[in-house]
Amino acid sequence: MACTEFELIERFFNAATRPREDVLLGIGDDCALLRVPAGCELAVSIDTLVSGVHFFADADPQALGHKALAVNLSDLAAMGAEPAWVTLALTLPTADELWLERFMAGFAALADRHQVQLVGGDTTRGPLCITVQAHGVVPQGAALRRDGARVGDRIGVTGSLGDAGLALERLCAGEPLDRSLRARLEQPEPRLAAGIGLRPLANSAIDLSDGLLADLGHICQRSGVGARLELARLPLSEAVEKQVKMRCEWSLPLTSGDDYELCFSVPPQCCAQVEEVLAGEVGGCTWIGVIEEDQGVRCYGTDGRLSRAVQGGYQHFRDAD
Ligand code: ADP
Ligand code: MG
Repeated sequence: MACTEFELIERFFNAATRPREDVLLGIGDDCALLRVPAGCELAVSIDTLVSGVHFFADADPQALGHKALAVNLSDLAAMGAEPAWVTLALTLPTADELWLERFMAGFAALADRHQVQLVGGDTTRGPLCITVQAHGVVPQGAALRRDGARVGDRIGVTGSLGDAGLALERLCAGEPLDRSLRARLEQPEPRLAAGIGLRPLANSAIDLSDGLLADLGHICQRSGVGARLELARLPLSEAVEKQVKMRCEWSLPLTSGDDYELCFSVPPQCCAQVEEVLAGEVGGCTWIGVIEEDQGVRCYGTDGRLSRAVQGGYQHFRDAD
């Protein structure tokens, strides 16, 4: 390696993000020391991106830096937590300084936008692999969880569904891809403000990483309930809507992953407030169904009839079939 591990840390990580007052000790010691505000709980989440599995080996490093952090911040958003600190474990084949510079530019830009400080990590040599752990705070007992959905809740989502899946299809097929669709795959925006706004109003929430059917299925399973979805209500971008019509099937918005929108359930009397809170957010809020007693997720077509089930979301260890 041209640089030693310590030179890399000094150059690329040490002052990558803006300092926060609640960081008593950041990068440079064996642990970071962080002050959790009184009356708050710590929300922690970790995600790994593996080259060749989660991204193409030649992916734009700046977009990758953004995405590695974004997928973790999205988990905090789903809990209604406010992001605060992050750690970064990087395994790199070589100390490619240009790559690192661009990766950290993408990472730090998103971190600074949400006042998140990089407070530690690990740097090793090996096949390219990126692990980020995000830490957030949430008032005691107030976190949005998967197990709180109640029969009669309305089901809402932020933004639109299936854009990342369509972008991935086009990339894999070597087809042209416009900038905004590419950004939906490579640079998702974690819905942090939406999560915090939903916190006092929603009964449950999850972020959509594996596809709506699979992720809403997690809410249902954990809450011991089921869901009825109205296909005609799914929020679709023009590009995805065109594909759904052409293909006469809904797998893009239902089962493709990587959208990083929020899906949540809200008691009917709080829906108007939720609409107000989310009106100022990109993509707003769309009501797509209702929580029912019968377990499972059922999709209803425009004709009001139960629609044929579609296969679930992406699972890493599912046997190929
Ligand atoms: P240790 O040997 O105690 O694990 P290291 O020598 O690996 O510590 O790291 C030295 C310091 O640099 C630590 O504070 C660690 O958190 C930080 N660090 C190492 N790699 C990264 C990274 N990729 N991002 C942020 N901080 C890092
Ligand atoms: Mg140590």
